[in-house]
Amino acid sequence: MKTTVHGIHHVTAIAGNPQENLDFYAGVMGMRLVKKSVNQDAIDTYHLFYADAAGTPGSDLTFFPWPNMGPGRPGVALTMEVPFAVPLGSLKYWQKQFDDLGVNYAKIETRFGETTLPFRDPHGLPLALVETDDERPFVPWQKSLVPPGHQLRGMHSVRLWERHLAPTETLLTDRMGFTLIGVENGWHRYGVDGGGSGKLVEVKEMPEESRGRWGTGSVHHVAWRAHDSEEEMALRSVIESAGLNPTPQIDRFWFKSVYFREPGGVLFELATDGPGFDRDEDMERLGEQLILPPWLEPHRKEIEAGLPFLKMPGAGSN
Ligand code: ZN
Repeated sequence: MKTTVHGIHHVTAIAGNPQENLDFYAGVMGMRLVKKSVNQDAIDTYHLFYADAAGTPGSDLTFFPWPNMGPGRPGVALTMEVPFAVPLGSLKYWQKQFDDLGVNYAKIETRFGETTLPFRDPHGLPLALVETDDERPFVPWQKSLVPPGHQLRGMHSVRLWERHLAPTETLLTDRMGFTLIGVENGWHRYGVDGGGSGKLVEVKEMPEESRGRWGTGSVHHVAWRAHDSEEEMALRSVIESAGLNPTPQIDRFWFKSVYFREPGGVLFELATDGPGFDRDEDMERLGEQLILPPWLEPHRKEIEAGLPFLKMPGAGSN
């Protein structure tokens, strides 16, 4: 049987100041902080997870805030934009919201027939809002500043720059279940599992571009959905047989992960749909407390002392 991923699971990016990050995503963008944890590989750093009310796979944008890191350098081997889905007609609301709150945005564009508003977060991360009427699972966040009718439905796609298209295309189509849907302005759009919103990746070949570098305002990795651990391990072996170098399966507590660099150098992850963010917190209270995986719990005191205080923005507060 051919292996396939099932769309975007989450995207993780690098931010600057964590309070500015929280104010923007839980305030301006109206997302729910569904988990406040630490970077399991650098425990003096937060790991902040923003999503819909339930942390539905595909809705979750997470950040490592590293205020002392310099800005990233755009280039090949990086995810260069994270477009979010919003309902048809929502861009009017969002332009007014951005005007009122002083967020800069670019001109509206049409991409693959979809009305798109590109903008950046306070630390330079390129984002976009894309109007779509594709059906997707979504749980509105009732305490959001943004009315449910305009809330973000999750990641619509991810946009990668590559030095060479072919090796990445082969991995996507031969090993990960994607098919080419269309080409426009140099962007190659691939879809998986029917290719609707949240099941898309777009790749642009930039042969002259130098290699990008991680820093504040850049995407760290893109995670793709595997339904369960068994499917993830089947995907892992297919990726290994393609000559790539996947990590062993790592238990991230809320899901299980395998990391690998695709042939062009972009860091990918496979992540299981479960167990989910309510494994260690009541669904009603997600994100209120600093949550540590069980193996870090004995060090809670030192970990908390090493983290800056964070205040929930009024409008997005629990
Ligand atoms: Zn991840």
